[in-house]
Amino acid sequence: MTVSSSFALHATDGTARTGAITTPRGTIRTPAFMPVGTAATVKAMMPESVAATGADILLGNTYHLMLRPTAERIDRLGGLHRFMNWNKPILTDSGGFQVMSLADLRKLTEKGVTFKSHIDGSRHELTPERSMEIQRLLGSDIVMCFDECPALPADRDRIADSMRLSMRWAERSKDAFGDRPGHMLFGIQQGGLEQDFREESAKALRAIGFDGYAIGGLAVGEGQEAMFTCLDFAPGQLPEDKPRYLMGVGKPDDIVGAVKRGVDMMDCVLPSRSGRTGQAWTRRGQVNIKNARHQDDPRPLDETCSCPACRTYSRAYLHHVFRAQEMISGMLLTWHNLHYYQELMQGMRDAIAAGQFAAFEARFHAQRAEGDIPPL
Ligand SMILES: [Zn+2]
Repeated sequence: MTVSSSFALHATDGTARTGAITTPRGTIRTPAFMPVGTAATVKAMMPESVAATGADILLGNTYHLMLRPTAERIDRLGGLHRFMNWNKPILTDSGGFQVMSLADLRKLTEKGVTFKSHIDGSRHELTPERSMEIQRLLGSDIVMCFDECPALPADRDRIADSMRLSMRWAERSKDAFGDRPGHMLFGIQQGGLEQDFREESAKALRAIGFDGYAIGGLAVGEGQEAMFTCLDFAPGQLPEDKPRYLMGVGKPDDIVGAVKRGVDMMDCVLPSRSGRTGQAWTRRGQVNIKNARHQDDPRPLDETCSCPACRTYSRAYLHHVFRAQEMISGMLLTWHNLHYYQELMQGMRDAIAAGQFAAFEARFHAQRAEGDIPPL
């Protein structure tokens, strides 16, 4: 029996919302943070460890997987969930964003984009239809429309042209996606930082009708203040009864600010990437484990954190294995960072449900303002 997917809003506090997306592969509690599993793995983490941090859903990258090992091969091997041993929901991006960042290696037309692989220089084409086919072959639970987005700053004409092309592609994506019970298709709002273009885009997407709506084209270099200004109106332009997904965000304070403004889902490589470069995120802010101040420090990264890195290891050990370039360094810090991000999401879900989001936010900023514990 195929179970359909749905979204239920459980509570709101100001514009912040908490709820749940139900899918045949499990429930996604919102607001949700999605770790990024670019090449069918969240780097340095076993899938069961990712699940242990509290993640309900992962993000997979169409662009990377279509090039290597290819969507057709993953399909023959039973789909992405089985291939990477992750049985909970997976959201896949459309490949659009990564192809756009290839700059001079791509060619954009009304039909789609042709580009050269960064791996071997081979030629490929991505269109709305091909992106839907790849995401179907992968077995993605939440499929994203194929879209185009300019890097900011860009002039208004460029932003408008790009947004309108993305809306035509959104319609083609919906047609190509077809009727697939149990799978969701999300439209992507574009329009840069311009309120009128964002409204035009939202209107076009609502007319087509999607299972969820992403806010695209932010976190592309505009800075936090400009992003928050846009988020003061963008989520409210989208349907209230569907999930809203802010793509590619972000640092912990970006996430708290986005949830405050009505965002339900986010993804970012930051916690895993930082983990591999010796950067830890804690409730007291960012900790650089490379710093010599940690080399004799027997205390954990965060005494209140229940992740394996904090429960079992000292700052001195984390410092040592980073300096010695041991693999466990990236493993432990990634685990800690993902654990911290998921704990932050749980804290926000609880606070919204209790009508205490403002107090939560004040505490979040106060703890960060204190900074890391002083050296011994
Ligand atoms: Zn920890």
